[in-house]
Amino acid sequence: MSNVMNVEELFASKVFTRETMKARLPKNTYKEVIRLMDEGGELSLATADVVAKAMKDWAVENGATHYTHWFQPLTGITAEKHDSFVSHPDENGKMIMEFSGKELIKGEPDASSFPSGGLRATFEARGYTAWDITSPAFLKEDATGVILCIPTAFCSYKGEALDKKTPLLRSLEVINEQALRIVHLFGNTDAKKVIASVGAEQEYFLVDREKYLQRPDLIFAGRTLFGAPAPKGQEMEDHYFGSIRERVGAYMKDLNVELWKLGVTAKTQHNEAAPAQHELAPIYEEANIAVDHNQLVMETMKKVAGRHGLTCLLHEKPFAGVNGSGKHNNWSLTTDNGVNLLDPGDTPNENIQFLFVLACIIKAVDTHADLLRQSAADVGNDHRLGADEAPPAIISIFLGEQLEDVVRQLVETGEASSLIEGGKLQTGVSTLPDFVTDATDRNRTSPFAFTGNKFEFRMVGSSDSIGSPNTILNAIVAEAFCEAADILEKADNFEMAVHDMIKEYLTKHQRIIFNGNGYADEWVKEAERRGLPNIKTMVESVSTLTTEKSVKLFEKFGIFTKTELESREEILYEIYSKTINIEALTMIDMTSRQIIPAVVGYCKTLAETVVAVKGAGADATVYTQLLTEVSDKLADMKEALVKLQEAEEKAAALKNGKDKAFFYKDVVRAAMDELRVPVDKAELLVDKKVWPMPTYGDLIFEV
Ligand code: ADP
Ligand code: MG
Repeated sequence: MSNVMNVEELFASKVFTRETMKARLPKNTYKEVIRLMDEGGELSLATADVVAKAMKDWAVENGATHYTHWFQPLTGITAEKHDSFVSHPDENGKMIMEFSGKELIKGEPDASSFPSGGLRATFEARGYTAWDITSPAFLKEDATGVILCIPTAFCSYKGEALDKKTPLLRSLEVINEQALRIVHLFGNTDAKKVIASVGAEQEYFLVDREKYLQRPDLIFAGRTLFGAPAPKGQEMEDHYFGSIRERVGAYMKDLNVELWKLGVTAKTQHNEAAPAQHELAPIYEEANIAVDHNQLVMETMKKVAGRHGLTCLLHEKPFAGVNGSGKHNNWSLTTDNGVNLLDPGDTPNENIQFLFVLACIIKAVDTHADLLRQSAADVGNDHRLGADEAPPAIISIFLGEQLEDVVRQLVETGEASSLIEGGKLQTGVSTLPDFVTDATDRNRTSPFAFTGNKFEFRMVGSSDSIGSPNTILNAIVAEAFCEAADILEKADNFEMAVHDMIKEYLTKHQRIIFNGNGYADEWVKEAERRGLPNIKTMVESVSTLTTEKSVKLFEKFGIFTKTELESREEILYEIYSKTINIEALTMIDMTSRQIIPAVVGYCKTLAETVVAVKGAGADATVYTQLLTEVSDKLADMKEALVKLQEAEEKAAALKNGKDKAFFYKDVVRAAMDELRVPVDKAELLVDKKVWPMPTYGDLIFEV
């Protein structure tokens, strides 16, 4: 037997693909399903029955015993409740595996335990899951067996969105509709659809599972709450793109196989900047599927880690002092006849449609910078944004030298007659080929960068769903397209109108363009001068959802109602408070029951040594000094612990969600930081053998 892997055969082998449907569905049913997938519309129960049976047969042939409506509640992760295909036996006791069309298209999980932000009181706990026909069903295999997973949207009894998918699907319809108006105006009347495409690069950490299990902070909070820096960090820059260690390599190989089976196009893998940090990127695809697939990537990363004695950390900042993890959300718009609206071509200065689309995006991002910022906010990301390793919390757009120059010409004269060309790369080595370089270098510090034929939104946190960022991107750009189309469709002279509009938009919104170093302090001041919002934390970003401007945007396009937005606000405050509460309680617990006892024990050893040394008639000064030093840290620890306990009690007593979240941010987090200082100092004084948990060095250098 050959051990060569047949990736082509493996790929999507666990997905109910179009190909599988074509082979298994009656021709008419297949056509109907494809039409609905591409164009939308309602599925009849009769068709659903046929599809359900084919799906069940395929799943059972592949070992499935259960199905689940797989959905994305506002917890940020996915949820599933398994039902077996087992049906009531007939009079002879014979049982047949069954799955009906009704079960395929609609589910009714008890929704009362998912966050709803007041949309649903517990006494009216009904929530529904509805089949999202645009995302293919797949098989998931774990200890419970093989489960048929049906991607679904999750709504309340009254149709309010309780998940991340429903608004995303709404936004995709809206961007399609508005972008089509633009494409048609520019003469591409054959286009029937504009698709938002997304590719999400995912960063993650791997640590040894045995060591992970000795760290309550990693278990409960997903990040270290204590930990002195190891002697070495990432300063040697030897991990980024470094050769991949055996154990990690075996993990990556396994991960790729699992993802390929699920139809995820795992493409790029490499070591990242921090020790023990890595990245995986798939090939971009339709936004809705990309969002689902990113959830599968995160889930599979965690699952596969266990098989290798590893734990995968998706937290944005698992370790202080080295880089945290993010997710680059690459986004573009393409017509169904193959035109990428963000492709500048060779002469962007003459590509009017491209310049127009660019101007609309610049307008959209400037107008709604606050919302875009909010879409990348989560509790963990507060540790990254603005911390010199990730983009600042200020939204700006990087265009690169070439496009920035085009924009400058357009603003100044209304024309862009010249184009900065790429140079020739000459290595000075005769055997190496010379080639033409890109006209634009990269800028890693920008939160929203134009990278060739797409925008790369780099603010998103590694553990977060990319549902919200893409919902917001689609919504704000759709609004700009809509406002432009309203005018252009009525214009007597289309070309003149477009020309004027590009100049107007760029002039008005050029303040959002910034090509410099986003990490520099000067940028913070410059951004303030330009009037750009600098929303530093998640809690401060929450209220951007319900400003008059936001409500108007979302209600105009039916993406969120005001009530839905208010409920999301409430949930975000709640998530923040709960997360910090867990972190604070974990710190209190670790300090009281592990760290203080260890330090006390060490003090006792030192005290006994002092007595013994003195008894032997020798000079005990150095032992006494050591004892004093450690005891001082112990005293500081105890004091900070009491303070944190008091802050925690006050926070817990607060009732109002917003006040509570702000109190956790301003008071509890400060008390947590204060407690960490003496503990980390003590770690460097106390015998490693008695320190109650693995250190940073153990965790990130010994994977
Ligand atoms: P970069 O080096 O600029 O980060 P890559 O080619 O490595 O670009 O791509 C990064 C991610 O962007 C990948 O997931 C890739 O599939 C995705 N991507 C490439 N082109 C597009 C596009 N037109 N729209 C959306 N995503 C894209
Ligand atoms: Mg990239």
